[in-house]
Amino acid sequence: MDLTSAEIKNSPDEPSRAAEPGEFDYFDLIEDANDIIYTIDLYGRLTFLNKAAERITGYSRQEALGAQIGDWLDPESRRLSDEMLQQKLGGCPRTTYEVTLRAKDGRRIFLEVSTRLLFRQGIPAGIQGIARDITGRKRAETLERDRNRVLELVASAEPLEGVLRELCLMVERQLSGVRCSIFVLRDDRLLPAAGLDRSCGLHENPPPAVAVDLRRVPIQSQAGVLLGELLLERSGSAAEPEHERTVLEAALRLAVVAIEQRQLTESLAYRATHDPLTGLPNRSLFERNLEQALAEARRHGRALAVLFIDLDRFKQINDSLGHLAGDQVLVQAARRLHACLRRSDLLARMGGDEFTAVITDLSDTRDAARVAEKLLAAFQEPFLWEDQELFVTASIGVSLYPRDGRDAAALQRNADVAMYRAKSRGRNAFEFFAPELAAAAQHRLQIENSLRKALDTGEFRLYYHPQVDRSGRLAAYEALLVWDHPTLGLTPPSQFIPVAEESGMIVPLGAWAIQEACRQCALWQRQGLPRAAVAVNISAVQFARHDFVETVAQALSASGLDPTLLELELTENVVLRHLEESARQMQRLRALGVSIAIDDFGTGYSSLSYLRHLPLDVLKMDQSFLQGGGGRPIAMPLVEAIIALAHGLGLQVVAEGVETREHFEALRAAGCDRFQGYLWGEPLTAEAATRLLADGPPTPTS
Ligand code: C2E
Ligand code: MG
Ligand code: MG
Repeated sequence: MDLTSAEIKNSPDEPSRAAEPGEFDYFDLIEDANDIIYTIDLYGRLTFLNKAAERITGYSRQEALGAQIGDWLDPESRRLSDEMLQQKLGGCPRTTYEVTLRAKDGRRIFLEVSTRLLFRQGIPAGIQGIARDITGRKRAETLERDRNRVLELVASAEPLEGVLRELCLMVERQLSGVRCSIFVLRDDRLLPAAGLDRSCGLHENPPPAVAVDLRRVPIQSQAGVLLGELLLERSGSAAEPEHERTVLEAALRLAVVAIEQRQLTESLAYRATHDPLTGLPNRSLFERNLEQALAEARRHGRALAVLFIDLDRFKQINDSLGHLAGDQVLVQAARRLHACLRRSDLLARMGGDEFTAVITDLSDTRDAARVAEKLLAAFQEPFLWEDQELFVTASIGVSLYPRDGRDAAALQRNADVAMYRAKSRGRNAFEFFAPELAAAAQHRLQIENSLRKALDTGEFRLYYHPQVDRSGRLAAYEALLVWDHPTLGLTPPSQFIPVAEESGMIVPLGAWAIQEACRQCALWQRQGLPRAAVAVNISAVQFARHDFVETVAQALSASGLDPTLLELELTENVVLRHLEESARQMQRLRALGVSIAIDDFGTGYSSLSYLRHLPLDVLKMDQSFLQGGGGRPIAMPLVEAIIALAHGLGLQVVAEGVETREHFEALRAAGCDRFQGYLWGEPLTAEAATRLLADGPPTPTS
């Protein structure tokens, strides 16, 4: 039952009529149309096609006529077009739907078809259709959808391999007949990360064993650094250079984002556990390792020694020769200490000039003494600094498991006590812990006891450390607690905050700091001084309390402070402990109008993905990002990445510990929003802070 062109107009309401000579020729109109115009019989065989069909599908009319149209359609499209036929037979005169069709060269074409039934003598005899090529639009849409899916994965902290696998699938969906694999550069080697190990079953049309075309495309960061390689294997189907270029560009950009995100996360994790200057494990990693070593010793009934190593008169080097010299000594000292130990021993830098070593597998106490002697001997040779010989010694305290303590805290405390003993005996020596030495621990108790009284007798002060904005204008003050101790003098927070936290005293003490900061800031406003916010540090113990929001609300109302001038600084570890509860607590605080900052970002378990889930305003980068490079920040690429990420999340970035002009300039160029550090002086008393506000911006001191 072939239909001819003359019958195309066949339908019950529009009786067939052949073109009269001289009359307008509808056939030309159909032939030259841009869209495909075709007819099929009820068995799905093509009975008529115009020129556009040849051009779009690549099949000649000879090949096409009589062919089963279903053979060219994707399975899903075939199902849809059958369904549409049923609808038409059921009385629906016209249907419009989208199908995908394989062109002769294997390309996938998206068509929007509009069809209706054809009748012969009132009986359905076939279908007439107009199909518009919407491939371009469809591709753009699906590419956009795929792209967003991959980006979602990146942001959801999916492992890199998973993200890249999705990326390969995206490329394969977009480019028919192509197989995609991705290699990532690790330790100077390109390692397969996704694509190669997938089974062929995943592919709709498995490519033949021998690829006809192989393309390797480097994956490069914006700065031109090679990150990996993308491999395209093409089987039989023809390339479409322009489309391929679009897809490849999108894929490469996504690959860069995914790989850089992972590098950033890894380097943050490394930074969180290592000292940037010496590369040794830091305190937090050390404590974890010590716990493990203790568990091991307990299991096997072995002894273990903890050695506290403190350089003697290190401060003098720092003060007389500068920080660069101090840094050099620390790096060299770390190397020498490391060289004295076995692989199974542990060494860490605890901060400043303090190192800790753990000697595992001790057969008797004399072993520990021998190691301590060896460590001291490592300092006999002078250290070199710019042709100068520097003589540096160390004092070492030793505690033994199980004799001097059964847990990590007791062993560390007692090694510390023993180290002080070595110092007080003239330095350059080691001491074993002895119970009599525990008296030092009494000191801590004293602090704890006098803490209670100190709040009542008004011994605490707030000092104010300026923060400037990008134009150097005074933008805020960080309020820092100081204890004006009757006998010890001005005592910095590091000496009493931990004790206050342990004893719970931090709750009333912290509440006082909030009230006092609010009172002072409100007073500045009433005195008509320029607007400057005040940032207050909040400890975990305070934040976890149910009445904390109430405490802040009361401080605000009692002082009358504009809440937008109050910023609360929380550390990562505080908010990460109970993420959901933290987010709720932060939400309540923000409802008061105050802003929330993450303090010391980069020292904890810095996870980028959790930031998205928290209602934050400010990210305060830790000082350690700026250390170790002399005047210049060494971790600049990391700093830039963090700033970009924070801005992407709508956060302001504050840099802390800005000590040199170079720091300031580099950070400003990287887009940092606020700056705090000794470059503008040390924290000020309330009176000095008031004067500074009145007098205008602080000028850098170096
Ligand atoms: P933080 O919140 O990270 O405060 C910044 C610390 O870095 C301050 O030390 C500040 O003086 C110091 N600093 C600022 N700029 C520079 C610089 O350029 N170079 C160097 N080397 N240091 C700089 P501070 O006053 O000793 O405070 C230590 C920590 O004590 C604070 O760290 C904070 O965690 C805690 N703290 C201070 N006040 C309070 C408080 O009221 N409540 C609670 N819970 N903690 C507080
Ligand atoms: Mg702070
Ligand atoms: Mg900080």
